[in-house]
Amino acid sequence: MPDVPHEKVLLCQDEATGLEAIVSLHSTALGPALGGTRFQSYGTVADAVLDSLHLSRGMTYKNALAGIPYGGGKAVVVGDPSVRRTRGLLKAFGRFVDSLHGRYVTSCDVGTNSADMDVISEVTRHVVGCSLKNGGGGDPSVLTAYGVLQGMRACAAVRWGSPELRGRRVGVSGVGKVGRHLVDLLVREGAIVLAADPRPGALARTRAEHPDVSTTSPQALLHAELDVFAPCALGGVLDQVTVERLRADIVCGAANNQLGYAGAEERLRRRDIVYAPDYVVNAGGVIHAAQEHRGISAELGATRAREQAEGIYDTTLSILTQAETTGATPSAVADELAERRMASAPHDASRTPAADQRSR
Ligand code: NAD
Repeated sequence: MPDVPHEKVLLCQDEATGLEAIVSLHSTALGPALGGTRFQSYGTVADAVLDSLHLSRGMTYKNALAGIPYGGGKAVVVGDPSVRRTRGLLKAFGRFVDSLHGRYVTSCDVGTNSADMDVISEVTRHVVGCSLKNGGGGDPSVLTAYGVLQGMRACAAVRWGSPELRGRRVGVSGVGKVGRHLVDLLVREGAIVLAADPRPGALARTRAEHPDVSTTSPQALLHAELDVFAPCALGGVLDQVTVERLRADIVCGAANNQLGYAGAEERLRRRDIVYAPDYVVNAGGVIHAAQEHRGISAELGATRAREQAEGIYDTTLSILTQAETTGATPSAVADELAERRMASAPHDASRTPAADQRSR
């Protein structure tokens, strides 16, 4: 992705609650910056800043490709959520989000969930992904998984001439919020699923929900003979070792920032592996979140979001086809498409979707 500078980076600290967070606004060219809040430990605060910069830039391109009137932003809260998550800390974070007056709208990501968004919504209305019982749209991960499935079907059409996944061996790495739903969908499609996660509890839940799904460790999954590898955990998974080791025809998953080094995509192509850029296929959640932000009721919003997320099939197909025809990488084709959309957007970035007037 080209290195367009970020519009704003906010370092948030609150001594009373121990909050340490970063909010990065990459672009509001298409509208308010929409992107989730990641809550996890980092080696240093600089690592957290870097992650928020990468993730927020990815959101700019993701939102443009999804065809929603939102720019790109992302927040990270530093620390282990199982230790540091308190109502006070979440509310302190929400007040920082509120201080941006709607230029940034937050939602769930790794380490955060709808219950957290409910707490944040007590101090700001610039939050989506709240629970259904709190008037929100519910967990966006369901639609994220649905969009990934559409992207995977498009990859299958390009690779094997048919979008059918029945009988294909799909390895899902990470069965958290998105991966779990993706496993559900793949099982319904008739795929043979192999699931991996470092958390024994997550694997036990998968086995309980789907006794036919085999489970393994993330490392073992990288050696497994697969048709599709679906990374659904953290970024950087396609590093120099993994790219050489993978035994799959397709890589298509939800994890953000999968490419671990500059030449990864090119190397995948040389190995004849179809790669679907993560920010093209994992947009279902943000499509869902956008409906909620616009004040659409949960039921109607879910229906509309599902229809819109179906478009991920066509977008992925068109990007992969163009990449094959021109010799460009899929990410280069996707970036160009996103930039065309941003360049042709109306110039006034201050427009605010109707939901900004709504009060919770
Ligand atoms: P999550 O925290 O709910 O789940 C992540 C899962 O990955 C956990 O079960 C965790 O134990 C597992 N994991 C951790 N390290 C792993 C490893 N090395 N190998 C395999 N599994 C590992 O997160 P999520 O919300 O499901 O998001 C997953 C990915 O998808 C993230 O990269 C996120 O940014 C991206 N994403 C999520 C959404 C969404 O709607 N939640 C939307 C777009 C993109």
